[in-house]
Amino acid sequence: AAKTSQARFRRYAVELDDRADEEARLGAEMRAALDTGQFHLVYQPIVSLPGGETRYVESLVRWTHPVRGFVSPGEFVPVAERNGLIVELGEWILRTACAQFVRWQATHGAAAPTRISVNVSARQLAEPGFAAVVADALAGNRMAPDCLIVEVTETAVFGGGVAVRAVEELHELGVKIALDDFGTGHSSLTLLQTVPVDVLKVDKSFVDNITEAGRHAVIATALIQVSDGLGLSAVAEGVETAEQAASLFELGYRYAQGYHFGRPVAEPAFHGPEVAAR
Ligand code: C2E
Ligand code: CA
Ligand code: CA
Ligand code: CA
Repeated sequence: AAKTSQARFRRYAVELDDRADEEARLGAEMRAALDTGQFHLVYQPIVSLPGGETRYVESLVRWTHPVRGFVSPGEFVPVAERNGLIVELGEWILRTACAQFVRWQATHGAAAPTRISVNVSARQLAEPGFAAVVADALAGNRMAPDCLIVEVTETAVFGGGVAVRAVEELHELGVKIALDDFGTGHSSLTLLQTVPVDVLKVDKSFVDNITEAGRHAVIATALIQVSDGLGLSAVAEGVETAEQAASLFELGYRYAQGYHFGRPVAEPAFHGPEVAAR
């Protein structure tokens, strides 16, 4: 028995080693990707209910590797967080998103989205001077602070300390703060007492099966009540069907995001209020 467990351990160690190698390789390739412009951003509409007019957009990073092809952010963002590259990549994302937002304001006028949402990782928030980087990106693009929404996860601000101070500084600048994947962490409600928040992004897991009037609907109802009670705005994430959108509206949700309304794309179509009403 000792022998087989030894063999099993060796196999496990080799697997860990392979994974470390792969992670190191991906990290090095990401460094090169930043230098050669392999990253780009796509934008997904955040719409108002029930009409489905685009109000805001969320920027999402994409990586097209010359050999690997499409690499999912679910795969490379965690690696970038571990090796620290997310700080430089994140700053590029922030500046690129702000520049794009300002271009849309210039070209689409009243039909353009009125805010842009940018995902910020725990590692970025913990970096000293992060709020100053955001202020510089806004000033460099002559963009009003309240046009920017910074999306942070519960885990990023859970530890308190530097990350929460960064959020407070951003909030003082006038930047809007969204709690991403809301409801999936271990301290969702506690955080609302300690972190300045403007937007709750209600996780897709509560939207799935919402039409079946079971637990999901009960929780989704509780979350919109908390949001309304605190004067926040709630965005339902991952809305894939018209039925889900209708249920959410009935429960009191006024903002939604998901494939039903639009996938993340490089150039979303914007329709002014008058077009959307027709
Ligand atoms: P997230 O911030 O929660 O982003 C939402 C994810 O759900 C996106 O996946 C989006 O494409 C996907 N999604 C949107 N609507 C639907 C829907 O109706 N159904 C389904 N099944 N999925 C939907 P994506 O782009 O693959 O990003 C995954 C995660 O990677 C993001 O989750 C975020 O945590 C991270 N990420 C993406 N872009 C960035 C970025 O620019 N910076 C940072 N720090 N993280 C990012
Ligand atoms: Ca997000
Ligand atoms: Ca989310
Ligand atoms: Ca997520």
